[in-house]
Amino acid sequence: MFLHCHNCNWEQDDFWDQHYNPARSVLDWESELINNDLNQYVKLETKEQMQLREIIAKEFEKKAYLIRQMRYQTIDQFKENNPNGVCPSCGKRTLDID
Ligand SMILES: [Zn+2]
Repeated sequence: MFLHCHNCNWEQDDFWDQHYNPARSVLDWESELINNDLNQYVKLETKEQMQLREIIAKEFEKKAYLIRQMRYQTIDQFKENNPNGVCPSCGKRTLDID
């Protein structure tokens, strides 16, 4: 589930649990890191080519960004710490869970 603001563009990652969280996503790259040549070039959906090491490093950086941005890891934390749904960016009571 996804927490976002109806008044401004503030949003955070989906709530985290044992099945979905940045650590779990990073682990998906474990096999490539151990078994594949990091210098090989991989064709992306955009038809660009990028080195595997750069693709994986960018994925790790995206997860680091999400960790830095995350306010409420779980829905329970959100309900307990922000029962009125006040947006951390614009200060209005316009947070919503989809
Ligand atoms: Zn807002």
